[in-house]
Amino acid sequence: MRIVILGAGQAAASMAARLRAKGHDGPLTVIGAEPVAPYQRPPLSKGYLLGQMGLDRLLLRTPEWWVEQGIDLRLSENATAIDTAARLVTTDRGSVEYDALALTLGAAPRRLPAEMGGDLAAVHVVRSLADVDAIQPEMRPGRRLIVIGGGYIGLEAAAVARKLGLEVTLLESAPRILGRVAAPETATMIRDLHLSHGVRIREAASIDRITGTDRATGVVLADGQELPADLIVTGIGVLPETRLAQQAGLTIDNGIATDDHGLTSDPAIWAAGDCASFPFQGERIRLESVGGAIDMAEAVADNMLGADRFYEARPWFWSDQFDAKLQIAGLGTGYDQIVTRKADGIHGGSVWYFRLDRLIAVDALNDARAYMIGKRLIEAGRSPDPQEIRTATDLKALM
Ligand code: NAP
Repeated sequence: MRIVILGAGQAAASMAARLRAKGHDGPLTVIGAEPVAPYQRPPLSKGYLLGQMGLDRLLLRTPEWWVEQGIDLRLSENATAIDTAARLVTTDRGSVEYDALALTLGAAPRRLPAEMGGDLAAVHVVRSLADVDAIQPEMRPGRRLIVIGGGYIGLEAAAVARKLGLEVTLLESAPRILGRVAAPETATMIRDLHLSHGVRIREAASIDRITGTDRATGVVLADGQELPADLIVTGIGVLPETRLAQQAGLTIDNGIATDDHGLTSDPAIWAAGDCASFPFQGERIRLESVGGAIDMAEAVADNMLGADRFYEARPWFWSDQFDAKLQIAGLGTGYDQIVTRKADGIHGGSVWYFRLDRLIAVDALNDARAYMIGKRLIEAGRSPDPQEIRTATDLKALM
């Protein structure tokens, strides 16, 4: 069986490794547009941006590993079309035939449009190694950084920039930071953390445009106020890479739609990672997380080899900001009740999400125990009484 994987990120690397580990010894080709072998993205907005980590530590596998495994890793190559009838992928360098194809194409950062100054120099996104390599030399002490977007990208970039001695203002257009991914109680803990480190946070602050002729010089807010800046980082979300799949006639529904095995609407094409949507607790979701990319890629690899394995997502996330660690188990969307607990230290605590009395997620800031216990409870399908969580002196008693 000839297997081709399009996209060379975390999901591709995990899938390729799993295919070989599970005995696929036939042709295996991985095609990626970036010039670098698959690398970890999470450190890009953390340790790598801070300058504490080199490329060698980012790479998921050594260059030798790809050769030893007999995997044809093709970099700087763009897939341009998929012919589902002929089972053929065309790229800007040629073509390759497949018996099974996997799409692990990831997602692309949303950008502010050129009319708003989104294309000016000194306006950066944080998604690829090249993006971060372009930001790093700009991160000099005393410079003024405006971060647009109060999601994880914006907050992590803001934290790194403060550590490096920049003056940082973070603008969020929604009423509060982390609106898409966390409850107000978690946002409050994170906001307090940032304010205590001197980040200026402005919520419900819409941008009219970025100013500057060649290079960005600041931002004009919707209320007309002008904020000067030496550089700008936008973290305003991502869009799944669906173009190739759409052109090939695959079903698109909040990403490349897959069934509970990771199979798309074409019987020879699979998908995994940020680009793929899948059924989860009665809904269709995408998981924008490295843990999700690994788990789904491994399930798809098994299924390509005939395992008939149901992909059951177990969402978990983490974020490092300043010296604090936020750990998240489960998905908090659609919650109807929240319970909070304080943890030791100034910036610490946990937020427990319930839906119809079922524990669905836990956010834990500097509270590894709450995270571990919450994760185990969620995965076991157990839901303690919310009142017990609030009052327990030792969370272990809930297990
Ligand atoms: P995100 O989580 O979607 O957050 C983007 C934020 O920017 C949202 O709060 C959004 O508000 C806001 N926004 C959108 N347009 C804006 C505008 N014009 N002006 C000001 N604010 C605006 O996405 P992200 O932070 O860019 O991260 C990208 C992806 O990487 C996500 O999948 C994220 O989960 C992932 N990531 C994860 C981690 C981690 O887990 N530690 C770290 C970094 C990145 P609205 O929702 O109202 O549009």
